[in-house]
Amino acid sequence: MTAATTETTTRAWGSPAFAAPLEPMTIRRRALRDDDVRIAIEYSGICHSDIHTVQGDFGEKAQYPLVPGHEIIGRVEAIGEGVTNFQVGEHVGVGCFVNSCGECEACEAGEESYCERGPITTYGVLDRYADGEFTQGGYSRSIVVRESFVVNIPESLDPAATAPLLCAGITTYSPLKKWGAGPGKKVAIIGLGGLGHVGVKIAAAMGAEVTVFSHSTAKREDALRFGAQEHVSTADGSFAQEWRNRFDLILNTVSVDVDIDAYLNLLRLDGALVQLGLPAKPLETGTRTFTQKRRILTGSLVGGIPETQEMLDFCAEHGVTAEIELIDAAEINDAYQRTLDSQVRYRFVIDAATF
Ligand SMILES: [Zn+2]
Ligand SMILES: [Zn+2]
Repeated sequence: MTAATTETTTRAWGSPAFAAPLEPMTIRRRALRDDDVRIAIEYSGICHSDIHTVQGDFGEKAQYPLVPGHEIIGRVEAIGEGVTNFQVGEHVGVGCFVNSCGECEACEAGEESYCERGPITTYGVLDRYADGEFTQGGYSRSIVVRESFVVNIPESLDPAATAPLLCAGITTYSPLKKWGAGPGKKVAIIGLGGLGHVGVKIAAAMGAEVTVFSHSTAKREDALRFGAQEHVSTADGSFAQEWRNRFDLILNTVSVDVDIDAYLNLLRLDGALVQLGLPAKPLETGTRTFTQKRRILTGSLVGGIPETQEMLDFCAEHGVTAEIELIDAAEINDAYQRTLDSQVRYRFVIDAATF
């Protein structure tokens, strides 16, 4: 029996019980199936939704221990017998999903995040399309993933700073592309956090004119450095009049409740506002907001695997990566608190060697 065909164990950091801080632990990884890739993880990003999941904020029935992490970069360590797209030693990544039904219209179109039977998230759910095991994420030294959910990481990209692209990158790239961000288009990004700062860089790289709307002015210099033309403080509410009817596309990256009607009114004729964050309250807006300018309010959830690869290739071509702070595993709990306090610029990435 070779190493590839036996189950392995790996060091990880996870939450042992509901709302408990993360701690070191050892978890199992399945023996490689024919279409599996085992990845020696190098870097793992911390996403806001990791924190929500650990703290049980989504109200789902989480199972513990729970190892979060869906911004995974590493090198292929072993491959199943039927794997054709990857070789040992290659730089690869895994994002928010590790499986889907593979048969529905969305899956056939490479839109796995919209799988009609529901995609399997990288951590915290039962993988009902595979072994029925509970998925455990990237805060670990290694992971086993079906090859069709693994992407190539271009060697020119800095691996640590590329980790957040697997979630924040595709989550912003997908709606920017779908709604036509490019030369001659005016794009607004609401919020300059982990998601927003990558959105600004990608939209600018696509050739759009980018404006950032952010509560404070503290990140103004950063916004301009990332490629925005303008940074608008929303603190006094005057933006609603000043920027009315100006934008072709707005991405709302914040999860807190905002005056969505005010932002919709910043759209021009046929403009679209894409909701990426999930605020607690339903969105409130007037009907005339839509009828008067044929405006569109829509949403977007991550993106499919082919588009994730396209995004990585685009970022390699344009030199786009996330702004990160590299930390050791022992700093995860502090990093969670700092993320909740908005004290991160702009994404924490964990050095997997320290798990
Ligand atoms: Zn994420
Ligand atoms: Zn499907």
